Amino acid sequence: MRSRSFSWTVAALLASALAWTSVSHVVRKRSRTPDILVVVVDSLRADHLPGGGYSRSTAPFLDRWAADAGVFREAYTHGTQTRIAMASLFTGSLPTLHRVRDVKVVRGNGRSDAVSPRLVTWAESLRDAGYETWGYSANVNVSEKFGFAHGFTRWSQHQSDDPAILATDFLKQLRDRAARNPDAPLFAYLHFNGVHSPYFAPPPYDKAFPAPPGRRVWASYHHGVTANDLAFTVAQYDGAILYQDKVLSETLPAWESAVGVRPRVTLFLADHGEEFQDHGGLGHGSTVYRELAHVPLIVKAPGVKAGVHDEPVAYADVHRLVLDLAGAAVTDVARGRPYAQWTSAEPTLYTESSDGVAGLRWGTWLLERPRDHPRRAAFYDRRTDPRELNPLHEKAQLRELQARMDQIVSRDGRVADDLGTPARVELDSEMAERLHALGYVGNP
Ligand SMILES: [Zn+2]
Repeated sequence: MRSRSFSWTVAALLASALAWTSVSHVVRKRSRTPDILVVVVDSLRADHLPGGGYSRSTAPFLDRWAADAGVFREAYTHGTQTRIAMASLFTGSLPTLHRVRDVKVVRGNGRSDAVSPRLVTWAESLRDAGYETWGYSANVNVSEKFGFAHGFTRWSQHQSDDPAILATDFLKQLRDRAARNPDAPLFAYLHFNGVHSPYFAPPPYDKAFPAPPGRRVWASYHHGVTANDLAFTVAQYDGAILYQDKVLSETLPAWESAVGVRPRVTLFLADHGEEFQDHGGLGHGSTVYRELAHVPLIVKAPGVKAGVHDEPVAYADVHRLVLDLAGAAVTDVARGRPYAQWTSAEPTLYTESSDGVAGLRWGTWLLERPRDHPRRAAFYDRRTDPRELNPLHEKAQLRELQARMDQIVSRDGRVADDLGTPARVELDSEMAERLHALGYVGNP
């Protein structure tokens, strides 16, 4: 009797010791899982940041902040319009697979593609890995309506473009969370829209950079654009970047000093750039050229080397990096490379515009072709023509680039057909009006 009781006690002690070991192992493992913040500034072209070689001091805070970060100077988006780009960042798949492309808006109504619920977003993977997932968006394109809130345990849609309002909302939730001291790690996604057209910077930022008097111009329906209009517009755009930088100078230090024992991961990027008549147009979405496809990427994360990196990186790689850092599942339609391969394997620098142009950067080349008329292709030699201004048609080179693009399109097309991407949604009058205000016009 005594011995049985003794045995039972020993067994119970052993069991409890084992349980404690396994709990402490879990706690230790989970405390190494990082808190992750992704900051996206809509329409921010990489070469308008001082770190991207710009002459104006548009982002003094970000410049200082990036001093101990990995600065990737050759990062490329998969879409030169918000929804195309973000559907790729959220799912890791290319536009050839998620096919979130078209929006048709007329005053009063419209319809649009949306992220298919059959695709797994990064927020879903992170939530399934035990994360609290928060999304804050000031761009109506990145909203619940278009499938971007999938997997977020908290989603805040902002009507105002003022970055300070979005940042204040996030920081308040962050303070409340610190008081709760939750066990779960945090993934937070902030999508700012203050740099987006029509480039309204509040005083004194509207006068931060000198410019001649002119009109603010940002879309193809602005005719007779003068050199003064363009200079004035760019000065307003740069002022909006400076204001965004001021907001970040309060947001990022607050995030970095938020109470917690976990490692911290912070990424800064854009969804696409902006054109100021580099190829004769204004705004974004119409082409796949450098001013729209080349985007900033700054990463502070354990294991990511600080300093300047000149190897090309695709935004699908960023999707992969976030999930790998969190130890979360990556789906088989995601095209990103593991970080360890960023310097060795070729990235898939495939980009689409919302006007139906597809581009592929491979080596020193850019191939561009209409999506629906792929044989009408041209290519650019980025070594001798870095601004991608002079189309070439040499047959052998064109054939090689076309074959690479065909491979991507056909591989993803089959999967997309099986999945039935994209989802389609009807737009109510309010949504149609808001998209119209952002410059979306067209026939239903
Ligand atoms: Zn955008």
